[in-house]
Amino acid sequence: MFIEQMPYDSRKHGWIEVICGSMFSGKTEELIRRLKRIQFTDQKIEVYKPKVDDRYHHTKVVSHDETDFEAITVENAAEIKEKFKRSDVVAIDEAQFFDEGLFEICNWLASQKVRVIVAGLDMDYSGKPFGPMPAIMATAEYVTKVHAICVKCGSLANFSYRITNNKDVIDVGEKDKYIPLCRSCFNKIEQ
Ligand code: ZN
Repeated sequence: MFIEQMPYDSRKHGWIEVICGSMFSGKTEELIRRLKRIQFTDQKIEVYKPKVDDRYHHTKVVSHDETDFEAITVENAAEIKEKFKRSDVVAIDEAQFFDEGLFEICNWLASQKVRVIVAGLDMDYSGKPFGPMPAIMATAEYVTKVHAICVKCGSLANFSYRITNNKDVIDVGEKDKYIPLCRSCFNKIEQ
């Protein structure tokens, strides 16, 4: 687990932190935990989320346990650069739904001395790397992978298995559409 320790005043550049994992792994809760800690300082925070994610609320980042944070909803990654107000910290939730351009935006922000915190699904429902996440994870200074619990066997789960027949990569849903599975149970059910 990445424990935040940063010499903020003396830093010459920013950095990228990624919080990734399957659905129901607590990614957004971990993002909110980090942001709430930053709120005790004088650092300014901007939170962005993609428009496609409309599960709970259009202008907030909301975790499954209903804690929330004000967020700016944007259509694409380039819009983050346009809306950027030179805050110390930029957080991006549901990053997997952004276009590939998010990888460059995150690195540009980090070069502007911004602490960039990215939360998102690392894999789609079929177990493939999701959208811009692999590129962001590769260029991040810190990657934290959080896990859900497999509903079949109780092991740590890293797959978000879709229980409906929809084959679109993006299909926003919750427990009505997805269950967390470990590799072994995911492979069994896929056969
Ligand atoms: Zn399992």
